[in-house]
Amino acid sequence: MPLPVVRFAPSPTGRIHIGNARTALMNFLFAQKFHGRFILRFDDTDVARSTEEYAAGIESDLAWLGVVPDASVRQSQRFGLYDAAAEKLRALGRLYPAYETEEELERRRRRQQARGLPPIYDRDALRLTAAERARLEAEGRRPHWRLKLDPVVVRWNDLVRGESHIDCASLSDPVLVREDGTYLYTLPSVVDDIDLKVTHVIRGEDHVTNTAVQIQLFEALAGHGSASLFGHHNLLASASGEGLSKRSGTLSIAALREEGIEPLAVAAYAVLTGTSDSVRPVRALDELAAEFDLQHISRTQARFDPAELRSLSARTLHQMSFEDVRERLAAAGIAGAKAENFWLAVRGNLATFGEVAEWWQVIVGEIAPRVEDAEVLAAARDTLPKEPWDEATFARWTALLRARVDRKGKALFHPLRLALTGCEQGPELAALLPLIGRTKAEARLSGHAA
Ligand code: GLU
Repeated sequence: MPLPVVRFAPSPTGRIHIGNARTALMNFLFAQKFHGRFILRFDDTDVARSTEEYAAGIESDLAWLGVVPDASVRQSQRFGLYDAAAEKLRALGRLYPAYETEEELERRRRRQQARGLPPIYDRDALRLTAAERARLEAEGRRPHWRLKLDPVVVRWNDLVRGESHIDCASLSDPVLVREDGTYLYTLPSVVDDIDLKVTHVIRGEDHVTNTAVQIQLFEALAGHGSASLFGHHNLLASASGEGLSKRSGTLSIAALREEGIEPLAVAAYAVLTGTSDSVRPVRALDELAAEFDLQHISRTQARFDPAELRSLSARTLHQMSFEDVRERLAAAGIAGAKAENFWLAVRGNLATFGEVAEWWQVIVGEIAPRVEDAEVLAAARDTLPKEPWDEATFARWTALLRARVDRKGKALFHPLRLALTGCEQGPELAALLPLIGRTKAEARLSGHAA
């Protein structure tokens, strides 16, 4: 097969949410897996609602996820191509002017429904004579333009859903160009897919109904058998089963990032949920690319559970190596001889990466120790071994301590933890102790801030 070319085509009328990221990642990983190209296409033909800020925001959301396009295009800069395509369709007799107002169309639909007929556009406009059209235009009416559909059954082998078909006789001729000359999404998308040589259109199943029309457009504009292959993935829905919308702000990629969710967890969650692959932490996007397979996507809705994403994010952190996070630690001011052991000690306790700052404070900063059992702490101070310390020091020390005080288990360890860290819970004391060091440990066991 030729190297694939895929595209992700958001409208920059809002920021993207995890459901959009799912489409973006599926395209990106598909391209990665087969060494193809991934194009970011901004569907910004709606110039009134599209903004540069949203476009820039979407680019940074994608970059945060590790999705970097090979090329980026904007439909707003390609109107010439769409005009030429519309001209070609007119010349072929496939694009015809229609003059009905929304109210007229609505009245007709109601009449059809009352007679038990499907509400399909009756093609009245096709029967207008030149004189009638001229009269309407003289009245000041501007036409919108409809595609004359071939009344055939269009079939395609969907890369996710398998054999699919839509009977175009059951569809209204779709409007491609509005009265004011602006384009609806349908035509520019196909023109770009042809021009950019897109081989695979991977998108949400909310676009299944557009596919037959778009295949007819491909064939009219580029010839028989020219259509890209199509794959329609299931959509991510909220726990209540509703679709995710751009307005559900908390699910936006920006909000997840703000909350401290790991980008790799968002990616793994977005791609693996609703497939036959298990949702699990990964080390890199390559790992997801290697196993990505459109055939693993299930036909049923995928449910988004924020608690599951949070847990995946924590588990993603827990398995990161020091190398994976060295730069992020340095950016948080965590560097030097202790940094690696520090990371290995605390990673398993993190819910979000930002929490490293608090634990680093426990190691290098001053904390107020909490005194729960003065007798244990006094004995602990007396038995503190001499440095150098390592991870075995804690076991040696507490063995000595147990011989001095009549405590074991939590009654022994909890006062030590409260004094040494000031916290109820946290990473293994055995790992923290050598990082805290003898000077601070001694002071904290004496109840002094250190
Ligand atoms: N702009 C369209 C959307 O966001 C693109 C659909 C497509 O991929 O063809 O839904």
